[in-house]
Amino acid sequence: MDLLNTLVDKGLRRELPTREEALAVLATSDDDLLDVVAAAGKVRRQWFGRRVKLNYLVNLKSGLCPEDCSYCSQRLGSKAEILKYTWLKPDEASQAAAAGVAGGAKRVCLVASGRGPTDRDVDRVAQTIAAVKEANEGVEVCACLGLLSDGQAERLRGAGADAYNHNLNTSEATYAGITKTHTYADRVDTVQKAHAAGLSACSGLIAGMGESDEDLVDVVFSLRELDPDSVPVNFLIPMEGTPLAKEWNLTPQRCLRILAMVRFVCPDAEVRIAGGREVHLRSMQPLALNLANSIFLGDYLTSEGQAGKADLDMIADAGFVVEGADEVTLPEHRVDAAAGCGSHAARGCGSHEGQGCGSHEGGGGCGPCGTSEPAAESDEARTDPVAEPNEARTDLVAVRRRGAGTDLAPNA
Ligand code: SF4
Repeated sequence: MDLLNTLVDKGLRRELPTREEALAVLATSDDDLLDVVAAAGKVRRQWFGRRVKLNYLVNLKSGLCPEDCSYCSQRLGSKAEILKYTWLKPDEASQAAAAGVAGGAKRVCLVASGRGPTDRDVDRVAQTIAAVKEANEGVEVCACLGLLSDGQAERLRGAGADAYNHNLNTSEATYAGITKTHTYADRVDTVQKAHAAGLSACSGLIAGMGESDEDLVDVVFSLRELDPDSVPVNFLIPMEGTPLAKEWNLTPQRCLRILAMVRFVCPDAEVRIAGGREVHLRSMQPLALNLANSIFLGDYLTSEGQAGKADLDMIADAGFVVEGADEVTLPEHRVDAAAGCGSHAARGCGSHEGQGCGSHEGGGGCGPCGTSEPAAESDEARTDPVAEPNEARTDLVAVRRRGAGTDLAPNA
């Protein structure tokens, strides 16, 4: 297929595909799907080999958010029956993080619901970062606290944060239909603040909110321009009690095409499968490791993921290896560029080709919207016929009831 040969060549050279080429990936037929995965897999292996980076989420503060992001179970007015709690103490967060690190995670993502942190919140998170780093030598810490005010990114960087996550989520054109309490420009601004402060930028999207192919290509091209080091790809988990509860728009095949398109557009960025992996990719998760080089281990913010052991087994069975704490995640050219910028703390956090320092990254809101996991399938689910495309798989969505904010052990 000429299209795929062209995209592989461009990906190996870190050359931007055209919008038409990116759209064509999303429009490929099921007959061509394995060829698409194989082509994007070549690009993935060129920059990341067969390594899979594991990341671990710690929800520092859950629910009760004043913002109205339609996809989010923690939003204003959400009827989702999620865990709701205020700030974890530093030692509680550190304990949760340690479980993820023991399970193989090299990055811990400290996430808090809310529009953005107060200066007091930043102090609090600074103490938590110190506790996590003291107890887990060499761990990378990413903060995800919402919109940042002037100076806060620098304070987080000074406190030892390696990265900051803020997702763009969707295209600029559709953003106002998803969230009314802040803007797309607010999100871009926070990513740029994080990058300017020397934090490794992490910014991605949520697919499955009713957007068009053009919207998906728009947001991924915007991300390429912001040039984050990591790009989380969330697949919407339509949580009951949120405005998007009926938006079951994704199939495993669609998810694979989206991941392939992201890989072709952002060939040397850490592409991470985030929320919705188990719900939407289902038994196709191992195939997706040919496209993404990073996943979350265990549970998500407000929903449960598959058992951490199942994540590790899947990686090994598919012929991939968990990236070690002493391995550098990003390709050398990105690391060198970061060093040239005098930024980025942690090993493994890369840089930004081409565009000097002090810029980039978009992000916004909170990280991986909650997702679930195929906890053990019920007898009823096992006897169901094969799921039709776009069937609502509410049987695969489980609200998180363990780990941070509970007395039960975390899943890692
Ligand atoms: S994504 Fe973040 S800012 Fe938006 S409603 Fe959820 S917790 Fe609040």
